[in-house]
Amino acid sequence: MNINKAEFVISAVEPSQYPEDALPEIALAGRSNVGKSSLINKLIQRKNLARTSSQPGKTQQLNYYRIEERLYFIDFPGYGYAKVSKTQREQWGKMIERFLQNRQPLKMVMLIIDVRHEPSKDDKMMYDWLKFYDIPVCIVVTKADKIPRSKWDKHIKMIKNTLGTLPGEPIVLFSSETGLGRDEVWSIIVERISE
Ligand code: GDP
Repeated sequence: MNINKAEFVISAVEPSQYPEDALPEIALAGRSNVGKSSLINKLIQRKNLARTSSQPGKTQQLNYYRIEERLYFIDFPGYGYAKVSKTQREQWGKMIERFLQNRQPLKMVMLIIDVRHEPSKDDKMMYDWLKFYDIPVCIVVTKADKIPRSKWDKHIKMIKNTLGTLPGEPIVLFSSETGLGRDEVWSIIVERISE
């Protein structure tokens, strides 16, 4: 997919700020530093539209990007950042859960996992929420270039096992460095927003 137009729309703090034009939405979730901004930038072919290492303290903001007047990407706040207080964590949980529960235009959540690490408790919680609220999920296993190709299968299996993924659920190996997986992710997105 060639992207000609991608623009930042809003850092929404309140539900009243979420766009109302009913374009389909694809959200991206993952722990801080997992490579979420790099993934967004790679998908939309921009160097720096989504800010990399976006400020870990901003636990309440949903960053909306409009792509080709066709869909929104929603960058969820990264989780699992050690310096975030318990209160902030709870606020984050409430906001995300309310969003997942109510947001009509949401078509899919891409859960971003680092190929090198076993999914964390927070990753598992996010995955379980998505299942509970019956939201289609695509697992994007990023930073593939950081481990040798010969280890990919083993790591993918470990990630599937820890999350408890269902057979047939999309899981894509990705690298923001090499572009591996970019076409596959786009075809999954296009399929979801066309349904
Ligand atoms: P975010 O906090 O989830 O938005 O993570 P960032 O996109 O800011 O990435 C965190 C760090 O990982 C940065 O230094 C990126 O350059 C690096 N990074 C992200 N994706 C990849 C990847 O696919 N391969 C490699 N080698 N580094 C990556």
